[in-house]
Amino acid sequence: MSTEYNVVIVGAGIPGLYLARELAKKNKKVMVIDKSKEVGGENYSTAGIPIETIKEFSLPPEGVASYINKYTIATSSVSASKSSSEYRAVVLDFKKMKILLAKEAQEFGAEIIWDTEFVRENNCLITSRGNFTADYYVDASGSDAVLFNELNVGKNDYPLSEGLEYILEIESGDENFSKCYKKAISIIWDTKICPNGYAWVFYFGNNQYKVGVCEFNCGNNSTKILEERLENFYTWLNIGHSSKIIEKHGSKKNIRTLPKQVFRNNILAIGDSICAINPLFGEGIRQGLYSAKFALESIMKNNLSQYQKNWINYNGFRRKTSELMARKIYSNQSQKFFTEFVKLADEHFTIDDIHNMAFYYKFEILLVHPTSCLKMLF
Ligand SMILES: Cc1cc2nc3c(=O)[nH]c(=O)nc-3n(C[C@H](O)[C@H](O)[C@H](O)COP(=O)(O)OP(=O)(O)OC[C@H]3O[C@@H](n4cnc5c(N)ncnc54)[C@H](O)[C@@H]3O)c2cc1C
Repeated sequence: MSTEYNVVIVGAGIPGLYLARELAKKNKKVMVIDKSKEVGGENYSTAGIPIETIKEFSLPPEGVASYINKYTIATSSVSASKSSSEYRAVVLDFKKMKILLAKEAQEFGAEIIWDTEFVRENNCLITSRGNFTADYYVDASGSDAVLFNELNVGKNDYPLSEGLEYILEIESGDENFSKCYKKAISIIWDTKICPNGYAWVFYFGNNQYKVGVCEFNCGNNSTKILEERLENFYTWLNIGHSSKIIEKHGSKKNIRTLPKQVFRNNILAIGDSICAINPLFGEGIRQGLYSAKFALESIMKNNLSQYQKNWINYNGFRRKTSELMARKIYSNQSQKFFTEFVKLADEHFTIDDIHNMAFYYKFEILLVHPTSCLKMLF
């Protein structure tokens, strides 16, 4: 015996829960299953997104931890900071946002079960909590891509990348640190700190900061290497005497070429299961939400080819550019490139230029300064 649903979603990350809430709003019978032992799942993400995403996807504002009006890019020797009177981005309380979204989805009638895995048999998911059949299945299981990998349509041609971060609390007396990093998203591109990636400080509200490092092309030993890098970065920030580590978390991600297909038969894949993440800056939440939005539209119209079409149109050439840049920059990191880039940003970029480049794949500003770009490369 199995219970029938319109849609069964595997994975209660932000894109999966958003999709569940929206389908339930439209009176679809929805089930979400997630293997996480705790409600809300893992708290692994730094979760910085453009502020407009909150409104666009009606995300509960209580899940926002801090508001950002400054972007900084820096190396050990140079830095460029651009600020504005308006907030441009937010940093989410990642786990809280998932708990809030799950609650909203349930209020609209979606069912969610945690701590549950499944075995797939034909058109049925068999779990310890019952067997479920559905008109559509959605793979929202992140990099695990549990349903999608089974279909063998993703091309896994790029090695794993990994990020690790601390949530820190800074004593309110440390004026220097808060002057630099409060209400800011800061990216530090320095090969001495992170030879195959970058480091960051994101303001998390109330004297708290997310401080992390990531590594591209990481091998099997990467977690240990990242732990050392994170400790070194913490030392470099010189706040050991005035801060306390509240939490440490991280995750591995598959940064790969976008699969040509995002559905097969009655299975659609969204979020990190199709590697929606922006390869250059690791921004995956809003990208995953877009994939969920397109999946929603196509499910409502019973037309999955439309999902394929909208997703490819949305990403198109810009995503490819970001992917190529990520491959070039992170597989062969050069300090000269980063230093020249930061100098260029300091002299010529506005906060909009950085926002558009980081979040919207818009690199046109680079074309306005061809000489500086050549300096970066050669
Ligand atoms: C260190 C780090 C920092 C990041 N910072 C940012 C950032 O600043 N901004 C940003 O936009 N993005 C960031 N990202 C990326 C972003 O967090 C992800 O792209 C996004 O959360 C992906 O959402 P998802 O729901 O597709 O996958 P996930 O969040 O991974 O969710 C997948 C869910 O599926 C469940 N699941 C997996 N397998 C199964 C199974 N077999 N059965 C049932 N359930 C299953 C998991 O438990 C999980 O809850 C960061 C990532 C990392 C690693």
